[in-house]
Amino acid sequence: MFDTHVHLFNEKLINSFNLDTLLKQLENMHIKGIICICESEPEIDMFINFSQKYPFLYCSVGIHPHNAKDFDEKTLRFLVNKVLHSGKLVAIGETGLDFYYNLSQKEKQIDAFISHIKLAKELSLPIVVHSRNSISEVYKLLLEYKVSIGVMHCFSGDLEFAKKIIDLGLFIGLTGIITFKNYKNLDIVKNVPLEYIVIETDTPYLTPEPYRGKLNTPLNLPLILNKVAQIRNLESNYVEDILDMNAFKLFNLNY
Ligand SMILES: [Zn+2]
Repeated sequence: MFDTHVHLFNEKLINSFNLDTLLKQLENMHIKGIICICESEPEIDMFINFSQKYPFLYCSVGIHPHNAKDFDEKTLRFLVNKVLHSGKLVAIGETGLDFYYNLSQKEKQIDAFISHIKLAKELSLPIVVHSRNSISEVYKLLLEYKVSIGVMHCFSGDLEFAKKIIDLGLFIGLTGIITFKNYKNLDIVKNVPLEYIVIETDTPYLTPEPYRGKLNTPLNLPLILNKVAQIRNLESNYVEDILDMNAFKLFNLNY
């Protein structure tokens, strides 16, 4: 199993869990990879420290669209350079546009997103995209800047949009939301080609059923995998192999 989107150094999480214990449990469950989304210097320092002991940890650096109001490219490049030498930087993000919460001005979000796209291209790295109420704007920019590697994390669009994203070459990230009783986009889980799906816990958010309401950890990833398998009427082991391969391909890692 490969968790493609985790905020492992989130304050709530590190205050509630012993990270070392958690990572040992994940090691025992033979997790193949965890992408740690890092957006600050302390997070990157923790990443560098833990990744030396747990080689299945990988890093993606970006400033969340919520924080685009404070974005400047110098800081992004400083953060990226801090982790670049470790050989563990495998993506840029999460970045994108969130016009639901609008915690940063639209224009600031768009500028920050474009900076992330350009940096990802410069480094030949995939991009981790966050989109909420911003499908057409995100798509327009991905197209304009010819983005062809990356993932639409926590995909929330419809099937038509999913097809457009896949046509660009990007992957569709599914979270614990697919286990919720009121989840409405079953056709996405059913119909997106398995070769374009990756799974993610988005720890500490989006805890899958039956633990909804508690803090999420990558230990809950099997609940998401099993739900995908169940919806598609396939064996979990079979789905797991394909989704693992997808994650390795997405982040350009050797399987
Ligand atoms: Zn996230």
